[in-house]
Amino acid sequence: MDEHTATAAPASPGPEPAGKAARTGPARPVWSAPGSRGAAEIAEILAFREARARAHLERLAAEGPVRRCPVCGHEGRFAPVRQKPGIWCPQCDSRPRHRLLKLWIDREMRLPAGAEVLHFAAEPWVRAEMEARGARYRTADITDAFDLRLDLEAIALPDASLDMVIANHVLEHVDDARALAELFRVLRPGGLAVLTVPLVEGWEQTYEVPGLDAETRALRYGDADHRRFYGRDLRDRVRAAGFRLGEFAAVEPDVSAHALHRGERIFLAARPEAAP
Ligand SMILES: [Zn+2]
Repeated sequence: MDEHTATAAPASPGPEPAGKAARTGPARPVWSAPGSRGAAEIAEILAFREARARAHLERLAAEGPVRRCPVCGHEGRFAPVRQKPGIWCPQCDSRPRHRLLKLWIDREMRLPAGAEVLHFAAEPWVRAEMEARGARYRTADITDAFDLRLDLEAIALPDASLDMVIANHVLEHVDDARALAELFRVLRPGGLAVLTVPLVEGWEQTYEVPGLDAETRALRYGDADHRRFYGRDLRDRVRAAGFRLGEFAAVEPDVSAHALHRGERIFLAARPEAAP
């Protein structure tokens, strides 16, 4: 029985079988009918649910399914991150979006010989992957911890000087119209911007309210440093900058095998070849 079925029932179900309770935490008491509960009973329900959730996460952390990390080859359980189980590879620290990127690199990436690749906010493992494929690979960010100190909104590089730019979860931190225009400018015709962002496919429009304070940004965008939460109109924003758009999605059996987020996508924004 799922949560919706349980709450839609006319009265609360009784205690669950001992076997299931033993696996998921404390047994569920009998509560008053939905809609007729007092404050004390609601507090009791919240405490019960909290204990249940904790027991569930503890069980997943200790007994979760075996996954295989495409980045480092680790086979075993992955660690929970915050409320989400099976996210973090304990061998190489990869998260779902990194593993998805590795699958795309292995299966679909094409680089011209001696390709110039620039990676914003780079994860360390990507360098070896790119250099093994003959790329001239450099990392960049607004801090000095990378090869180049560059601002995605005003990239201090010549026009048409790069074959690929990777920006994994960066666009949501910046003025994306300026950033996309800059990416288009610095890429050669035929070059590719490899983009990932937090995105809700069920939203037609990106949620973006200028001037929110940090606390509200953390609540509504999931991070105080984010400027928006994308809807599926991200695609329109990318195309408006002149790109042709391809996508690489996390689907089964990869999702289960490599602990990916179902349906997460890499957006592959290609600067069209020059007109003949
Ligand atoms: Zn790993």
